Parts: sequence; structure tokens; C-alpha cells
Amino acid sequence: MKIAVVGAGAMGSLFGAMLAEAGNNVWLYDVWLEHVQTINQDGLRIERKDKTRTVEIKATDDPHQVGRAELVIVFVKSSQTSLAAKTAKTIAGSDGAVMTLQNGMGNADVIAKFIEPQRILAGTTSHGATLLGPASIRHAGCGPTTIGTWSQTEAGLQRAGQFAKFFNRAGIKTESVADVRSVIWNKLLTNIGINAITALTQIKNGQILDLEITRELVRSAVAEAMSVAQAENIEFQDDALEWVFKVAQATALNRSSMGQDVDNRRQTEIAAINGFIVREAKRLGLKAPVNFALTALVQTLEYHYK
Ligand code: NAD
Repeated sequence: MKIAVVGAGAMGSLFGAMLAEAGNNVWLYDVWLEHVQTINQDGLRIERKDKTRTVEIKATDDPHQVGRAELVIVFVKSSQTSLAAKTAKTIAGSDGAVMTLQNGMGNADVIAKFIEPQRILAGTTSHGATLLGPASIRHAGCGPTTIGTWSQTEAGLQRAGQFAKFFNRAGIKTESVADVRSVIWNKLLTNIGINAITALTQIKNGQILDLEITRELVRSAVAEAMSVAQAENIEFQDDALEWVFKVAQATALNRSSMGQDVDNRRQTEIAAINGFIVREAKRLGLKAPVNFALTALVQTLEYHYK
């Protein structure tokens, strides 16, 4: 299959490399020229535990060089989704599928401004990766990937099932589900509970459990998000709130992705996480003061990066 990745940073490079290693014709597209040139010259270095492998893979900063692809995977940070979706549209042509496994909520809806929803697949992944430098990533952890069709039509459902089988053959453990919105919402709740608080306080994920007042803050942010989701008829696993604490415990020594963004003075995905709850609450006539405060504080911090 011909596949293009739009946004070949940590995750895009990882997925592109795994699909290329399974024998597919993969192109990595990225706006970062040094990364693209180094991949073409020396290959992509992937560290995994104490081993390093180099994958030969094509990279470009010119979408026209890619031509048409049957599957385009969007893996930019959510603030860049709109730009990436325009590129994805060019590469997907009139019938290619476009997939997003980005964090946050709203990415698939942004892509749907450019691509018909029946061609959009969305989902989540528990793989973890870090960008080390040009053409160099660390594959930090493996976990399941879940995908589904954004349009929830019968044809879309079948398409998601076919792509799940295809990913499994490439060693990316993937399940397709009928209601992918709930899956994305469940992951969003975890990000809502952990990311902004750890980013603002410089703590690691597990440290949100140390004080009752921090746990109360997490509960309040997640409860606001659950009210929004319930108004949108989203179904949650019964222990959704407790699950956030379980994830914090399981990833106790990690710095959240938003924490890492703040540490490195990079733009965060706050608008697609807590900011999304603020916008949706407003639209639905609900209140989300905790998510508003978290969003405002992270955006203020970003604005004043030195
Ligand atoms: P990253 O910063 O490592 O990579 C993003 C890449 O997109 C960069 O290489 C950047 O140059 C490129 N880019 C920026 N604008 C572009 C554009 N207009 N067109 C093409 N490329 C462009 O980010 P990441 O960690 O790979 O995360 C990508 C998404 O995946 C995010 O939504 C993140 O939340 C999600 N995610 C990350 C992980 C992880 O472990 N890193 C895990 C699950 C989900």
C-alpha cells in the first residue's frame, strides 16, 4: 500500500517506519528540512530499549513529490492540523483515506473541513515516542491502537476494519471499533486530568496523586469534561475518573507531553484538550471554570516563554 505521513516527528516517523518495514511504500512528509534531508541521507534512527536500528525510508518537504497515496496519516501537533489537513487532501486525492491518531479533540473535525467524513479514520494509540533530533527518535513504549470511522457509516466501518487488519500485519496491534468518539473522549479525559496540571507545576505524572488538593483539582477538571461529554451522548467506561488516577500511577515517573512541551518552550496542545472543553461547554450552555483557568494559565505561560 502507498502511505504518506504528514508530520513525521516522533510518532509519524515511528508509524511510517513500522509500515515501511512491513514492505509498504511509505513517504514521510515534514516541514522540517534538516530532518527530511538527514532521513534521506542516513536513514531514520530508532532507539528501542537498549537497541538502535536504522530504517531506510523516503522523506520530503514537498507534498507533490509524494504523488497520490491510499492512506495519509496526519501526525502533526494539533495546532498544525488545519495546515496538515490541506496537505493531506492533496496527497489523498479523490479517494484516499486520511487517518488521525493525534491527541486532543477536534482534529478529525478540522480534517473534515477538507475531506469527506466517510474517508476519515480517527483513533488513539498507546505507543509512545520521543524526537531526539533530526532523523532520530526513541520508541519509548508499545500499546494498543484503536481506530474507527469518523462518519460511522457501514462503508466506513468496513474500511476501518480493513485498516486495522493491515496495521496488525505491520506489527501495530490495532482494533477497530464502531464508536471511536467514545474512545477518543476517554483518552481526552486522561489528558485533561494530567497534562495541564503537570505542565504548570513542573511535576511528574505520579505526583498529581500526592496531595488531596491536587487530586481535587484533577477531579474537578475531569468532571467538567464528563458533563460536556454526557451532553453529547458520549459513553464512558464506568470508572473513567478513577482511570485517570490509574494512568497517573502507571506513568508515575513520566513527564506529560504538555509538560515536555512547556519544558522545551514549545507550543502545547492545550487548545485541543482543556481548551476544547471550554469551547464546548460555552456552546452547550454549561460551565467549565476549572478548564478555563487551566487553559488561560497554560496559554499565558506559552505567551511569555523566554
Ligand atoms: P512531534 O512534535 O514529535 O512531531 C510533529 C512533527 O510535525 C514535527 O516533525 C514537525 O516538524 C511537523 N510539522 C509541523 N507542522 C507541519 C506541517 N504543517 N506539515 C507537516 N509537518 C509538520 O509530535 P509527536 O510527539 O509525534 O505528536 C504528534 C501527535 O501525536 C500529537 O497530537 C500528540 O499528542 C500525539 N501523540 C503523541 C505521542 C507520543 O508519545 N509522542 C503518543 C500518542 C499521541
